[in-house]
Amino acid sequence: MAVVTIDLEACINCGWCRRVCPTETIKYFATGHRTHIVEPDGCIDCGICTPVCPVNCIHPVPDYTVAPEKLNAAKGAARTFAADQRKLKQDRDAVVERTLARLASLGGAHA
Ligand code: SF4
Ligand code: SF4
Repeated sequence: MAVVTIDLEACINCGWCRRVCPTETIKYFATGHRTHIVEPDGCIDCGICTPVCPVNCIHPVPDYTVAPEKLNAAKGAARTFAADQRKLKQDRDAVVERTLARLASLGGAHA
C-alpha cells in the first residue's frame, strides 16, 4: 500500500491537508522550516489530503510499506475521526432544528 509525502520545497504551510487527514498523521512545524510533513506510518492512503492542497505538492510514495500493527492503529484512528465527525454533524443539525423551532414559535407568538 502506498503512502503520501509532501514536497517540502513547494508546501506553503496552509494547513488544509492537516485539517482533513482522518488519522492526524500530517504534522506541522516539525521540519524546522515552516512546512507540513506526513508521518508515513500513520497514513492509510485514503487520498483525502491530495485534492485539497492548493499547490499540488502531496505525492504518493508507492514503495513504502507500513507495518501491519501501525496500519491497524492508523485505521483505528480514522474510524474514531469518522465517528467524531458524525457526532459533530448530528450536534450541529440538532442546534439548527432547535433554533428553527424556537424562531417558529416566536413567529407564532407575534402573529
Ligand atoms: S492519504 Fe489520508 S491518511 Fe494519508 S496523509 Fe493523506 S489524508 Fe492522511
Ligand atoms: S495543503 Fe499542501 S500547501 Fe497546504 S500545508 Fe498541506 S502540503 Fe502544504
